[in-house]
Amino acid sequence: MKRIKVQRTIVAKMLKHNLMKMLVVGLIWESTIGHFSRGEKTEFESASVPECSSVDSSHYSVNGDDNLGYSKINRKKSSMDVWNLTSQKLLESFPLDPIGENYVRQVRDCIFSAVQPTPFKSAVKLVAVSKEVVEDLLDLDVSITDTKEFIQFVSGASVLPGSVPLTHRYGGHQFGVWAGQLGDGRAHLLGVYVNRHGTRWELQLKGSGKTPYSRDGDGRAVLRSSVREFLCSEALNYLGIPTSRAASLVVSNDVVKRDQFYNGDVKNEKGAIVLRVAKSWFRFGSLEILAQSGETELLRKLVVFVIKQHFPMINATSSNRYLDFFSQVVTDTSYLIAHWMSVGFAHGVCNTDNFSILSVTIDYGPFGFMDFYDPNFVPNTSDDEGRYKIGNQANVGRYNLDKLRKALNPLLDPKQQLLAEQILKGYPDLYQIKFMEFFKAKLGLFGHDNNDDYLIAYLLKLMEDTRADFTMTFRHLSEITQQQLEVNSISEEYWALQDLARHQKFSHWVNLYLLRLKRNTMDSDEARRIRMKSANPRYIFRNWMAESAIKKSEKNDFSEVHLLQKTLHHPFNKQREAEEAGYSSRPPPWARELRVSCSS
Ligand code: AMP
Ligand code: MG
Repeated sequence: MKRIKVQRTIVAKMLKHNLMKMLVVGLIWESTIGHFSRGEKTEFESASVPECSSVDSSHYSVNGDDNLGYSKINRKKSSMDVWNLTSQKLLESFPLDPIGENYVRQVRDCIFSAVQPTPFKSAVKLVAVSKEVVEDLLDLDVSITDTKEFIQFVSGASVLPGSVPLTHRYGGHQFGVWAGQLGDGRAHLLGVYVNRHGTRWELQLKGSGKTPYSRDGDGRAVLRSSVREFLCSEALNYLGIPTSRAASLVVSNDVVKRDQFYNGDVKNEKGAIVLRVAKSWFRFGSLEILAQSGETELLRKLVVFVIKQHFPMINATSSNRYLDFFSQVVTDTSYLIAHWMSVGFAHGVCNTDNFSILSVTIDYGPFGFMDFYDPNFVPNTSDDEGRYKIGNQANVGRYNLDKLRKALNPLLDPKQQLLAEQILKGYPDLYQIKFMEFFKAKLGLFGHDNNDDYLIAYLLKLMEDTRADFTMTFRHLSEITQQQLEVNSISEEYWALQDLARHQKFSHWVNLYLLRLKRNTMDSDEARRIRMKSANPRYIFRNWMAESAIKKSEKNDFSEVHLLQKTLHHPFNKQREAEEAGYSSRPPPWARELRVSCSS
């Protein structure tokens, strides 16, 4: 104990940040991860831990019995004619915008406006499909994706019977300011599909034309941003992170004009559409707009609907239902952001209209996975102030939850309003618990040790100082043996660790780490490495990979989209083609020059 104290003093002197002080009060993320003040625990924090992934694990049992009467043999439909998409429940549950015409306007007293998608004028090409979404979530045989009827469906050219395309009215706080009405300006909710497991999936086209919420926009999405959304949402899913899914991506020859870097250089790009799938597309901003415009009864209706549909653990008739709901969203959001942090993912535009009420990742725009470790990493070049830098995401989560809390206030009595504030005060602790869980798993640590937070913060600080690659440092620690670490035998194969090893305190950290690993009970080095390899991906969707695939896609070569899709489906497994493509190598020098803006 005394030795560790001495070591800590040396480290404290060495670290420029006031790390020791932070550790004493348990604020390890203050410099490295985010910035909080700790809150008190409340009775509501006992809310259950959310499931680890948006992957509906029941889907992966081909022979799984579903009790719904579907034939096991014919479970996949090979014709759209026998497939049922319905908007009925949504239409029955909420008043619809009484104006049926499609022009930009302020909309009131409704949740949805019924609007048809606008088909492309030119021929449409299917770029990519997610076999897993199509087959496992939507019960369709993937062979259907070769048919004209499927292409028409996923490009908004035909609307299936039972589907009434809806555009959702929502608002939001954008970059800290109330932005008023936003809404689906280029997305159409085609309806709900209830699959053989009884799971309901909402299907939404993105890039499918103008709506009453389009404001100054053209209702379209370009190929580059659609490739990014398609690949990244699927990538996050396979990293085990709650997210919307992507079923398909189509591209047209319709011209869409974009000033990508807002510098007057307007280019002709191609319009594309992603068919996105989520259990719900409601956002924090869905509630905010109703609270802001004083539509309290509609707000109540929406929240009760959401509770009944998506929060079965909450008693929808209880007087505390709104508090229970808020508590669950606080828990789930803290979990989501900690999970993002564990893979170095920055969403890029954490506005309240981009925060899902089910705490799944939605609305992929100028996101980024950081290459070298940097808490100030800002993926969006339009975000001048770095509001949504990776190290601020946890804070922004709390800011957004506070906006959600305020939106719920009209439904709460004064005592409940105070309790809601208390619930939110528990958020930093919830976040820290999850963050620690993820990072302990990344380091292969079992059980609890009082110095675990220190060990993790210390490593992150070394990574920050050496600009070591975030993903590959953890991956290489998962692959290297303890013996190699002990004798400091780090070959070129472990290039990220070599970078880290340049830090004069590296061997000191390694010693602490190896000591800690010895405290793992019932463990072996082989078991540790297997475990850590399933917690630390070898492949993430780096910006340079996206850029490389997009450049080819813009010349009608979709081979790299497909390679990335295949690679990111198994991010924890070493794959030959991915290795040859350099996906686990040091990022190319040009990766540092890449810029991603809000333009999409
Ligand atoms: P986003 O930054 O994609 O989350 O979008 C913010 C808001 O702008 C949402 O209401 C979108 O529907 C809307 N929006 C973004 N791009 C377009 C576009 N090209 N046309 C119409 N609305 C858009
Ligand atoms: Mg959005």
